[in-house]
Amino acid sequence: FMDQPSKHLSYMIQLVFATSNKNKVAEINKVAGNDIEIITMSEAGIDTDIPEPHPTLEQNAFTKSSFVYRHTGKWCFSEDTGLEVFTLHGEPGVKSARYAGEPSDPQKNMELLLKKMQEKEDRSAQFRTVISLILHNVEYQFEGICKGKITFEPRGDHGFGYDPVFIPEGSEKTFAEMQMEEKNIFSHRKKATEKLIRFLKEFYGKNAD
Ligand code: IMP
Repeated sequence: FMDQPSKHLSYMIQLVFATSNKNKVAEINKVAGNDIEIITMSEAGIDTDIPEPHPTLEQNAFTKSSFVYRHTGKWCFSEDTGLEVFTLHGEPGVKSARYAGEPSDPQKNMELLLKKMQEKEDRSAQFRTVISLILHNVEYQFEGICKGKITFEPRGDHGFGYDPVFIPEGSEKTFAEMQMEEKNIFSHRKKATEKLIRFLKEFYGKNAD
């Protein structure tokens, strides 16, 4: 007696990822593996910078995914991430990308953060990712959190954004001192993405035939 062949999922699920950040696409592709094909906005024919004007990650994520859904009619998801620092009451949070103003400048954002944290003993912080998925006109959200602390000085040159000033719980290194594989052991985005993938496989399994 042979096991039923498992449903072959290779590249059967195609999703548009509403981002133009190549780092994010690479990180998510690593988690998705071969089961899910992720195409970028430009591959889906969209060449717009979607505004993120809202006060929460959840609302911004929905704005992006619904924009792409309206324009492509394809299954799509977006993600919005913020660095939330406890002693700064959740700042920079939803403003993470433009903390030091326009245009978005990761170096200046980090400098401003370290300046605000100069006298602070409590360094605790978290990255929080919200993924918004739209399938058949219904939105689903998935959250991923990575707890950690803010350093006093930037360290490392991998990754992007606030990676050089963030040490995840369970490590002594900053995210920027890690290769992507190692960052993905801790990553907020990875945790949210795993929830997304699990959900998609289940959804697809139930709705495929
Ligand atoms: P976005 O609006 O989701 O693109 O992200 C907001 C900002 O958060 C980015 O510009 C980065 O500065 C920061 N950010 C998001 N994810 C990460 C990460 O994994 N590491 C470091 N910084 C990040």
